[in-house]
Amino acid sequence: MRPCMFLVVYLLIIGSAGGSIAFGGPPPVRFELIPLGVFGGEVESNSSCFLLREAGNEETALMIDGGSPVSGIIKWKGLDSANFTWSKRMAGVADVLATVQAILITHSHLDHNYGVVLKSPIHLSGKLAGTQTSICGNEATIQAYRDVYFSKPAWGNFTHVPSAEKPAFPLVVLEEEKPSKLGGFDVELYPLAHPVPSSGFVFTADDGSAFIHLGDTGRSKPIWKRGRNLLKSGKLRAVSLEVSFDTAKEPLAVRTGHLTPASLVLELNSLTGAIPTEDLPEEFEIVAAQDLAKAVADHLRDVRILIHHIKPTSYSKVVDELDLLKKAGLPLEVLHQARPVRF
Ligand SMILES: [Zn+2]
Ligand SMILES: [Zn+2]
Repeated sequence: MRPCMFLVVYLLIIGSAGGSIAFGGPPPVRFELIPLGVFGGEVESNSSCFLLREAGNEETALMIDGGSPVSGIIKWKGLDSANFTWSKRMAGVADVLATVQAILITHSHLDHNYGVVLKSPIHLSGKLAGTQTSICGNEATIQAYRDVYFSKPAWGNFTHVPSAEKPAFPLVVLEEEKPSKLGGFDVELYPLAHPVPSSGFVFTADDGSAFIHLGDTGRSKPIWKRGRNLLKSGKLRAVSLEVSFDTAKEPLAVRTGHLTPASLVLELNSLTGAIPTEDLPEEFEIVAAQDLAKAVADHLRDVRILIHHIKPTSYSKVVDELDLLKKAGLPLEVLHQARPVRF
């Protein structure tokens, strides 16, 4: 075989074996994120809740937050048609819940927890009887489950149901920045700025590919240091993070520990290190944010930025502003309930 012909055959073989990264193609898909609820509260059928699975593995999943798991599963699985009785719908829900190895909760606020609490009796009968699903989070979040959610007078004590020896929901405190093996991933917890202790999670697959999911958050977080290392090594596939209000409500966002489209760009700048933070103001108008977005976008060419937790009452304004940032080059995608994304 002539040398140039040999090279062509070699490239074809390597390309078909999934080695396309070196030649500029997309890397193999490692993660599947299934949004079961995407809003930041207000709508009880669609509030912060996600499933995360290794791509191609439908047997094991992690749940991230628990706002509207049951409504989300019913919509995702098409069980909302009139052809299904409620018994059949709930059997379909149980099938999905049976794959959930652990529930990672970012923080104790109600919009991230009410659905997990309401669905807890499903775990006492039928397909889920006798199973255990750990609820994992930072210390304050787990304390809220012990003292508020799984406690009188709000609810039953699911740390002792059906038995104290084998409860349906063992509560597990995750130490900061210490990896735990969960759902086929290494999972690390990082603290975020919010009125109650909130968390971001870094998920790393076997091949080192990484996904970062942030719960509710304000500005400046140690998680970006970890994120920047992953970005520089080419391992970071996607970041999902919140944008709650439009930029005119920045003072409210600061007071309540949330982001607007303008402060989102400041956070993405912290991730990428595009412009030294000391050279930037604390707050931005959306027009100035567009200029910064252009500089930041150059560093995010192979990363997907997935947006969630928009307040429904601010939805149109937030999406319009995110569109302006997309035009400036940022790879932003707004997540929708029951529409999985793979990366
Ligand atoms: Zn929230
Ligand atoms: Zn919150």
